[in-house]
Amino acid sequence: MAHPTREELSECALGSAPERELVRRVRQHLEVERCSACSATTFDLLSGDTARVRRSPLMSRWLRPTRVGARAGTRVGAAADYQLVCAAGPFTLDVLVRDCEVQRELRYVGQVTHAGRIHEPVASLPLRLVGLPVPASDDTTTDEFGEFTFASARDGVYALRLGAAFDAPCVMVWEGWDA
Ligand SMILES: [Zn+2]
Repeated sequence: MAHPTREELSECALGSAPERELVRRVRQHLEVERCSACSATTFDLLSGDTARVRRSPLMSRWLRPTRVGARAGTRVGAAADYQLVCAAGPFTLDVLVRDCEVQRELRYVGQVTHAGRIHEPVASLPLRLVGLPVPASDDTTTDEFGEFTFASARDGVYALRLGAAFDAPCVMVWEGWDA
């Protein structure tokens, strides 16, 4: 697919009413084709501004987790942990995000269970980290206990897609929570 123009990227990242088909095409380019150049441009357009990220049509489908047990005030060494819980379609996602500032890295440890049946893990579920800039980490799948781990760079906005399909539920797991 051809790269979207900067104007198209801007309209999708910042516009109030972009054409839906355009948003879908740009999302496809960023999330499936994982174009690093367009992803870097889009990330620059958002300027690390959390309010912009929350309003962005590109992220409007991301589910917002509840933060429980955030430890921002009790930092040990250089790491802070955030626990996120979210209902996502047929699943419940529980994920601990460790913010390793020194390594400029985020480490995620979590579990996927069936919605409403918290003791029943979802095994062998394909997971993909999507976001800006394009995450370098590979896709993964949950193990027999529904558990997973992976890592990403720290500077960006990321969501975890639960399932292989393009439109599978997607949960925001990092929006730069120092603010
Ligand atoms: Zn591109």
